[in-house]
Amino acid sequence: MGPIGAAFGISTDLISATDNPCPTCRILYLVRIETASSNMSSQNSHSSEGSFFAQVNFMFDRAAAYTNHPKGLLSQIKNCNSVYHVSFPLVRDNGDIQVVSAYRAEHSHHMQPTKGGIRYAPTVNADEVMALAALMTYKCAVVDVPFGGAKGGVTIDRRLYSEAELERVTRRFTFELAKKNFIGPGVDVPAPDYGTSAREMTWILDTYTTVTDNPLDALASVTGKPVGQGGVRGRVEATGKGVYFGIREACDIEEDMKKLSLNKGVEGKTVIIQGLGNVGYHAALFLEQAGARLVGLAEYEGGIYNADGLKLEDVVRHRRETGSILNFPGANNVADTVKTLELACDILVPAALEAQIRMDNVDCIQARIIAEAANGPVTAAAADSLRDRGVMVIPDTYLNAGGVTVSYFEWLRNLSHVRHGRMSRRFEARNASRILQAVQNLVGQSFNKEQLQSIEADLAFGASEADLVASGLEDTMVGAYHEIHEKARYHAVDLRTGAFISAIEKIALGYERLGIFP
Ligand code: NAD
Repeated sequence: MGPIGAAFGISTDLISATDNPCPTCRILYLVRIETASSNMSSQNSHSSEGSFFAQVNFMFDRAAAYTNHPKGLLSQIKNCNSVYHVSFPLVRDNGDIQVVSAYRAEHSHHMQPTKGGIRYAPTVNADEVMALAALMTYKCAVVDVPFGGAKGGVTIDRRLYSEAELERVTRRFTFELAKKNFIGPGVDVPAPDYGTSAREMTWILDTYTTVTDNPLDALASVTGKPVGQGGVRGRVEATGKGVYFGIREACDIEEDMKKLSLNKGVEGKTVIIQGLGNVGYHAALFLEQAGARLVGLAEYEGGIYNADGLKLEDVVRHRRETGSILNFPGANNVADTVKTLELACDILVPAALEAQIRMDNVDCIQARIIAEAANGPVTAAAADSLRDRGVMVIPDTYLNAGGVTVSYFEWLRNLSHVRHGRMSRRFEARNASRILQAVQNLVGQSFNKEQLQSIEADLAFGASEADLVASGLEDTMVGAYHEIHEKARYHAVDLRTGAFISAIEKIALGYERLGIFP
C-alpha cells in the first residue's frame, strides 16, 4: 500500500473483516475505520502496568525527547497504521465448529514490505499484535533491515489442537490475509514466532501460492521456511545465535562489566534461561558453547536449578523422555517458572513471553544482566527499577533482531531465485588456491601434503550460504550493538532508550528525505 497509509496520519485503525465494503482497497478502510488504541487496551496482558502497546509508546516518547524531530512526525512514527481482525470458523476433528480470532497489525509503512512473525497463543489480541508490530518497526531500524514492522497472531493454545486442525487454521488465516492484501512479497511478509515454526510457514507459502496472481515471487511471501521450500540455511538458529552475539558484545566491554562487578567475557558467567523453544534453546546452545554455565532452565511446568551447571542436551533429552524438565538428576526443582528467574545468576535470558519481570517481582531478580530474548519480557516500569539498581538490560528491540535479519537474507534469496554463494563459491575457492600457489612460488618452497591440506581447509574454500548468513548475522549484531551503546553513552541513558533513539532517528530521516504523500 506504499507510503499512503502512513501519509494519512491515522492513529490506529481496527478493521473488522465483516464490515468492509471493498476487499481490495485498503485505503478506504483506513479512512473509514478509526479506532483509538486506548479502546483496545482493556484486552492487554500487562494491565496492571499499562497495556503492552502503551508501554512501547512510553519508551518511544522517552527516547523521542532526545531527538528534535517535529511532534507530528514523531506521532506518525509511533502510531500503528493498520490492524486487521478476523474471525473464522474451524471444524474441529470431532466435527464441532469453533470460531477462531486472528489479527495482523502493520505498524509502519515507511519501508515496504512490512515484516513480522505470526504467533499462536491464548494471549493474542489487538493490543499485543500492535505492540509487537511496533517493536518490529524499531528493531528493523536498529539493525538496518529495510522493512516496516508487522505482527500477527491467532488466539489459540496450539497444544490443544491436532496437526490437521492447526493446518486448517493456518491455511484459512492465510486466505483471509490474502483476501485483504495483508500478505505478499512486497506487502507484508510473515515469519515464525511463539507457537509457530517452519511447518506453519510451509502451509502459509502453499496457500498463498495457490491464491496469488504473482506465483513467480510467491516464495518471498513468508520467511522461516524449511530449506527445501525456499528457506535459507541458518534461519532456524538465527534469533538465538543473534542473542548470543548481543550478549557477547555486551560482556566484551570491560568498563561496563566492571560497573556490574563482573569480569569481561561470556566464559564462566552463570546463566538462567526461561523458555527452551526456538529462541531459548539456541541462545542456550551458543552460550554454553562459549563457556557460559547454564545454572537454571525454566519451562511451562516449572524450573530446575543447579549452581554447578546443567548440560543443555541432557536436559532436552530428559524432557523428551519424561515430558518435563522437572526432576532432572542433580538439580533442584522450582515449582513456578517465574520463581526460577529470581535465582542467583549473572545473566538472565527470558525467552518465552512478555511481562515476565514486572513490578511485583523485579526486586527479587538477582541477575546483573537481563538479556531480553523474548519480546517485552521486562515491563517498562520494571526496566526502570532495574536500571536504578544498576542492572544492565540488553533490550529486545536489538537483542532478538537476528531472526528478522536472517529473514531478510531469505527474502533476498527468494526474490533473486538463487542460493546465496551459488555463483561465487567455487570461484573463490580456486582464487584462494591460486594465491597459495603464488605464495609457494614466491618463497620458492612447497608446502608438504599435510601442510597444504590444513592450509586449504582454513583458506582455500568459497563461502557457502551458511557461511554468508552467519557472517551477515554476526556483522549486523556486532555493528548494531556498538551503535546503540554509543547512543546510550552519548545521551547518558540506558541501552533500551539508546536503541529507541537510534531507531527514531533513522525512521525520521527516511520520512524527511522521502516526504509525505500526497
Ligand atoms: P517457541 O514457541 O519456539 O518457544 C517458546 C518456549 O517457551 C516453548 O518451549 C514453551 O514451552 C515455553 N514457554 C511458554 N510459556 C512459558 C512460560 N509461561 N514459562 C516458561 N516457558 C514457557 O517460541 P520462540 O519462537 O522461541 O519465541 C519466544 C519469544 O521470542 C517470543 O517472545 C517471540 O516473540 C520472540 N521472538 C522470536 C523470534 C523467532 O525467530 N522465533 C524472533 C524474535 C523474537
